[in-house]
Amino acid sequence: PPDPTTYNPSKSGYHPVKDACWKPGQRVPYLVVARTFEKIEEVSARLRMVETLSNLLRSVAALTPADLLSVLYLSLNRLGPPQQGLELGVGDGVLLKAVAQATGRKLEAIRAEVAERGDVGLVVEASRSTQRTMLPLPALTAAGVLSKLRDIARLSGSACMSKKIDIIKSLFVACRHSEARFIARALSGRLRLGLAEQSVLAALSQAVTLTPPGQEFPPAVVDAGKGKSAEARKAWLEEKGLVLKQTFCEVPDLDLIIPALLEHGLDQLPQHCQLTPGVPLKPMLAHPTRGIREVLKRFEEAAFTCEYKYDGQRAQIHVLADGHVKIFSRNQEDNTGRYPDIISRIPKIKRPSVVSCILDSEAVAWDRAKKQIQPFQVLSTRKRKEVEESDIQVQVCVYAFDLIYLNGQSLVREPLSRRRQLLRENFIETEGEFVFATSLDTEDTEQIADFLEQSVKDSCEGLMVKSLDSDATYEIAKRSHNWLKLKKDYLDGVGDTLDLVVIGAYLGRGKRAGRYGGFLLAALDEDSEEFQAICKLGTGFSDEELEEHYQTLQALVIPAPRSYVRAEGAEVPDHWLEPTTVWEVKCADLSISPIYPAARGLVESDKGISLRFPRFVRVREDKMPEEATSSARVARLYKKQQQVQNQLDSNSSDSDPEDFY
Ligand code: ATP
Repeated sequence: PPDPTTYNPSKSGYHPVKDACWKPGQRVPYLVVARTFEKIEEVSARLRMVETLSNLLRSVAALTPADLLSVLYLSLNRLGPPQQGLELGVGDGVLLKAVAQATGRKLEAIRAEVAERGDVGLVVEASRSTQRTMLPLPALTAAGVLSKLRDIARLSGSACMSKKIDIIKSLFVACRHSEARFIARALSGRLRLGLAEQSVLAALSQAVTLTPPGQEFPPAVVDAGKGKSAEARKAWLEEKGLVLKQTFCEVPDLDLIIPALLEHGLDQLPQHCQLTPGVPLKPMLAHPTRGIREVLKRFEEAAFTCEYKYDGQRAQIHVLADGHVKIFSRNQEDNTGRYPDIISRIPKIKRPSVVSCILDSEAVAWDRAKKQIQPFQVLSTRKRKEVEESDIQVQVCVYAFDLIYLNGQSLVREPLSRRRQLLRENFIETEGEFVFATSLDTEDTEQIADFLEQSVKDSCEGLMVKSLDSDATYEIAKRSHNWLKLKKDYLDGVGDTLDLVVIGAYLGRGKRAGRYGGFLLAALDEDSEEFQAICKLGTGFSDEELEEHYQTLQALVIPAPRSYVRAEGAEVPDHWLEPTTVWEVKCADLSISPIYPAARGLVESDKGISLRFPRFVRVREDKMPEEATSSARVARLYKKQQQVQNQLDSNSSDSDPEDFY
């Protein structure tokens, strides 16, 4: 096979066997992974990135299928499925120290160079290792690198930092060519390829569609799409992509998906990877709406229910047939250790008829003495891990609103009316511990308005309005129109808050001297996978919050904006920041902006959209930057706001105050 240093997965007419640089059955060299990342970094079009990665995956599937999982985790820069919660725990300090030791350079010099170049990866790559070894070290393999990263994550205890440094050094010493760049970036937590989860899944489905795994070697089919027209090929790949994406929603765990995919192929995958208690699924999401009128218009004749929208933390409660209980977050993290109090209630809340189930619910802080819901802020003071039931200060009440799985049966295809009935029949309420979400089935505008008001009085955020019978299945991972959210904040602003990425900061003056006084925020453009500046934010912070932001954001300062950040036009911030932090922001309305690049061209050809009077609401620790509000959504919010405005203008005489709910 050709030399791995020249491996080129972006070559046109790529042949998964002839163009690969390793022999069948041999471990995949890490260098081909690094070469692939280099190539991905060179292009900016998403489709080209996906194709480049998919070419590597085709070779891996054909030659060394056992390494497919490792290569995928390396491409996602993850160590395992989200519920395992494995984290590297390597701060910049440790990483730079290891670099210094591996290269024999001074820590200060390295720190200065990283600050200047803004990328620890390039600095490490350029600093040759000075550690001499007697014999040439064996080449790194993809599986070997992943396993070392996992070793680092598993280390804990007092001497763990020096042990982590030793492993990192051993990796750097063995690096060739660009390998050090990507290992350093993986360790810093930011691979910076612009490859989000959806792109990696697209590359995987494309790979196994074109070069189906599990064939005799050499594979008879290396490009199953040959002979199809470009259009037909694209549609065919997209259709296959959907099969994988849907399965991944139900079972977002590559440890389970990849072996099944290799054994049974993509078409059969949905039969072999299904919703299972113990494996968290992606939650159904809701669409924001601005008024009751919009709700009625959406549901027209269809029956719907209004439920209180509780302000706590989503809790997916899994009861396994063997009696184990697991609780997962909105992002599939394992929160079981956080809620021993909920776990110990399970025997009491489920009727004997329940053997296994998945409940969808909101865990809300509860004041036992006053018998009252407490604000989200109170819940967030609760310890996150290894909570002892006897130490619990903040009590929680579980508000159950859905039943996704019961006794071996997935209920996702059942309508909500049926799921709700099963929920009510199979579980028992206890005040302050486990309660069904308060609901009202009505189509009467006035009753809905009263119910909305009541929900706010009862310390909720507003209502969730859900279709009961038609189009009422549980849509995993979708922001579906079958669930609408109607928040009290809509009374005075845009239909929903926005989740924006902090890309820069302005030094404070006067009372805010010595901290940051303002921040530059960005929306995510999903097509170009770029962060586009949308507004400057300077209000809504408490003093403590400002101090905290100053502390946490300083660690993210970089000398120049990332290539995937668009901020021209905006006031240049004093500090550019690594775009990793997501904040929830509220605004009065959206306006066309000649300055900001967000959503440019989506509403007006050469103008973008900005927020007027933005206010900070909270840090969204549970959202990744790639889950930030998209520019397309910003444009939709703007258009919707204009529609409502026009309607009000055109029939202001008979305008209905309910439009403002
Ligand atoms: P999203 O989850 O839609 O991206 P978000 O995280 O900002 O947005 P919200 O806009 O607050 O969340 O609304 C959805 C969340 O509301 C759900 O994820 C869930 O945690 C919570 N919730 C509270 N009560 C209910 C209910 N009755 N039905 C469904 N979800 C509810």
